Amino acid sequence: MNELPNGVTFFERGWLSSNNVLIQDADQAVLVDTGYWTHAIQTSSLVASVLNDQPLTAVVNTHLHSDHCGGNAYLQSLYPSLRTYIPPGLAAFVDDWDADALIYTATGQHCPSFSRTGVFADGDTFLIGNSNWRAYSAPGHDPHSIVIFQEEDGILISADALWENGFGVVFPEIEGVDAFDEVEATLEIIQQLKPKIVLPGHGAAFNDVKGALIRAKSRLAQFRGSAEKHATYAAKVLLKFKLLDVQKIKYLDLCAWASSAGYLQLLKKTYANKSEFDVWVFELCKSLEKNGACLIDSQYIININ
Ligand SMILES: [Zn+2]
Repeated sequence: MNELPNGVTFFERGWLSSNNVLIQDADQAVLVDTGYWTHAIQTSSLVASVLNDQPLTAVVNTHLHSDHCGGNAYLQSLYPSLRTYIPPGLAAFVDDWDADALIYTATGQHCPSFSRTGVFADGDTFLIGNSNWRAYSAPGHDPHSIVIFQEEDGILISADALWENGFGVVFPEIEGVDAFDEVEATLEIIQQLKPKIVLPGHGAAFNDVKGALIRAKSRLAQFRGSAEKHATYAAKVLLKFKLLDVQKIKYLDLCAWASSAGYLQLLKKTYANKSEFDVWVFELCKSLEKNGACLIDSQYIININ
């Protein structure tokens, strides 16, 4: 693994919270992404453990999924002068705090409302120390996502556009909006940037970008070949996220939660129309259990890993 330069710290989190990148010099300290809201205290402790008495000056979000900006509100309360920059696409919904438009309702997730100072859009840069960090549009997983590249050291903050093994659920596809082409275009952009080290939104940092791109493209080809495969993946990711959040839940409560999450309703209606909703949820849980992601007993679904 290539070392990160001084002033760049990568916090690898569990899967409920996105990873965070802290970039600092003597005057500024910028945190890219802030994790899920239930981990906000942990996020702030990690930041403080590196900054000591230096204040955090800005937050930049790669996109507005709840696991990437859930700590914004808490950090804003801790650092009153904190500036917060988000990608432009959903800025109006942040200003009016519209949890439906920000898809927190449809995913059955929560994000405490926060304010934003401005947007950080494709081509925008911030300078810290002597290094420029530049935003690139990276639609696919989320239509408004950006990735952030620092050319000098070849560091890419890839959010959920590229992980060591794959990439995040392609959310527009859940709503029937084609977005696999955008995933591919974003992978092409990453390939052209030739990063030396990738700091992904989830999972470990990695240097083998070539290998990751090959795996991501093959995953994409599988999804292109079977929309159902992607739908099942998406449904399982949403269920697993809930399990990571609550750790243990009665099966009936999980079903009640799932039926309140519009995306799960939509996936069920589109891809499993004939099954009963609760049976469909149970089958997905069984598949998660088979992959070692949960345990099912007579009453409870219990998170593992
Ligand atoms: Zn995401």
